[in-house]
Amino acid sequence: MKRAAICSLLVSLVAACSIRGQSKLSAKWEELTAAEFRDAIQLSKGTCLLPFGILEKHGPHLPLGTDLLNVRHASLQAAQQEYALVFPQYYFGQIFEAKHEPGTVAYSMELQLNLLPFFAQAQLDRPHDYVVYVLDGERSRPGGPPKKSTGIDYHAGENETSNTMASRPDLVHLDRAASESGGDQKRVNLPEGVYTGIWWYARFPNHYSGDGSVATRELGEWNMNNWIAATVEAIRAAKADDQSLKLQNEFYEKSKHPLDTRP
Ligand SMILES: [Zn+2]
Repeated sequence: MKRAAICSLLVSLVAACSIRGQSKLSAKWEELTAAEFRDAIQLSKGTCLLPFGILEKHGPHLPLGTDLLNVRHASLQAAQQEYALVFPQYYFGQIFEAKHEPGTVAYSMELQLNLLPFFAQAQLDRPHDYVVYVLDGERSRPGGPPKKSTGIDYHAGENETSNTMASRPDLVHLDRAASESGGDQKRVNLPEGVYTGIWWYARFPNHYSGDGSVATRELGEWNMNNWIAATVEAIRAAKADDQSLKLQNEFYEKSKHPLDTRP
């Protein structure tokens, strides 16, 4: 029994070594051959990252694909530290509020909802396969260099511009960042708690919120490194998680006969 266990350990070590021994497997789904894809699923333990983005205006100074460029940068860096397969470019998120701006692609809600599960489930149907959605990391990370702007920084402002200076500095036009206002224009005055669908356009009609002109690469690298570390942690947690599937199966089994479920 013991001997068999040792043998099987050796076999799995050899298998792992031979996968790693090949020229390093790319984390990018689209760069793998079909045979390498099988190895990648094994090496990643079926853990895949789905960097999630959209095409939308980002102030006067950042590219339309900023979200996806940044989120893929963080995901690919994280996959270097803890191997995970990274899905091809996915820019089918919600962005109705910017459809008045050039270059925005606002897919219908129906298309978004139909495409996402299809994309996420492609090839991943074994019990322990895991899709980790990686979303845009515009928020501030604690610590790090002090921010220069003090106001609202929701979109294409100091944080996101700094992040892009870390991921794709060649696409940042800092000299144009002050050519439009990213300030809150407060064009609708309603009590807090009263919501209207036009609130974003009312406040930020240029689809710009914050001040990108004061961005620095130093802040971007701080944010990005923290974001990458959080993604590495998420990959490791997904690989180690043996409870979610068990509980999910239990939940759906109970949902077939709720009257039999004990309180
Ligand atoms: Zn963005």
